[in-house]
Amino acid sequence: MGSTGSIGTQTVEVINKHPKLFQVVGLAANSRFDLLLQQIKKFQPKMVCIGQGASGHPAIDELKAPFKLVRGPRGLKQLASLAGADMVVNALVGSAGLDPTLAAINAGHDVALANKETLVAGGQLVMRAVKRKKVRLLPIDSEHAALHQCLEGRDPSTVKNLILTASGGPFRSHSAKQLHSVQAQHALNHPTWSMGRKVSIDSATLMNKGLEMIEAHYLFGIPPERIKVVIHPESIIHSMVEFNDGSIIAQLSTPDMRLPIQYALTYPSRLPSLVKDCRLDELGQLTFHKPDKMTFRCLDLAYRAIESNGIMPAVMNAANEIAVESFLNGRIGFLDIPAVIQKTMGKFAAGGKISLDKILAADSRARDTAREIINAIIKMKDRR
Ligand code: NAD
Ligand code: MG
Repeated sequence: MGSTGSIGTQTVEVINKHPKLFQVVGLAANSRFDLLLQQIKKFQPKMVCIGQGASGHPAIDELKAPFKLVRGPRGLKQLASLAGADMVVNALVGSAGLDPTLAAINAGHDVALANKETLVAGGQLVMRAVKRKKVRLLPIDSEHAALHQCLEGRDPSTVKNLILTASGGPFRSHSAKQLHSVQAQHALNHPTWSMGRKVSIDSATLMNKGLEMIEAHYLFGIPPERIKVVIHPESIIHSMVEFNDGSIIAQLSTPDMRLPIQYALTYPSRLPSLVKDCRLDELGQLTFHKPDKMTFRCLDLAYRAIESNGIMPAVMNAANEIAVESFLNGRIGFLDIPAVIQKTMGKFAAGGKISLDKILAADSRARDTAREIINAIIKMKDRR
């Protein structure tokens, strides 16, 4: 799911590297339909799901192939629960990935998850379903793939802290004053990773690390206060686990998403990969420092959201999705992103029991609230 995106196309590269191991039975995309057509031709899937963006695309509209064509959110759920599949790779963007992830788990499929927003919005539901259906949920996010490797075979009671590394993004050493005028095209220029537009902005605001902290909390059952963040601009250490005795175990590799993708797809095997060897003697030095939480406020907002629990992480995530989209469209400034999220969160009550319906309703209401707040910000700026 999301086969034409950054993670999706790299998943295809991993599959092409090991053609005997994998058979692609389904594809879903909502952009780059020419590429989707090539993928359909190559893999001959049983089912293809296209999003709303495909309407009017001539080649897609004329598709009369020997596969089932499904559409939109319902189509994604149908695809995710396709009979005969072993694993679903979720490389969609945003909380739109939650429902299909649950559908995949409920159908008994293992899930390789890049779509972190799924766990931020509905982590409790997803982990409960994973337990109930006894399926595997393997993270593709590089930090969580690293933690998965560092934690493997360990007694959870020996773990003191999880340490997430963050590159710090393109504005790592910017002051708040400098951040005031940065534009989308600057934020899309990531120093160590080439990624989709939304996650690139999340990286620049540090919201990505906030989302990943919540993702790690659900995946590994460690309380948020024991999940730390350290800035590591070289992106060689992908995350670490600190144990009770003071030992820290880290996972290192060349920064290349094809490694965590392959790890998730082939776990527990370790096969040769497309990733360049990590030559430590050529790297020089690895550096670390504290995140600037005062300037990059999104990280603290994520800690606050998970402390409030209930629907709040879903609210924060939805507000972030809307704020990032508005920043990408040039409607609001970079520093408006945390302001929109904070204001949106302020309109929702903390805590409470959750269900899928409650989460989806909160997600939708938070989007409306964030849009109203953005309109008010734009009006205020116009008046000045
Ligand atoms: P992207 O924007 O490059 O790709 C998204 C894909 O999903 C595209 O194929 C798009 O067409 C498809 N899609 C979106 N909405 C859809 C819908 N409603 N129906 C069908 N298809 C739909 O994004 P990306 O950078 O590949 O990121 C995907 C996820 O992985 C995000 O959650 C991101 O945070 C996470 N992630 C990405 C990276 C990375 O290096 N790109 C690293 C770690 C985690
Ligand atoms: Mg990551």
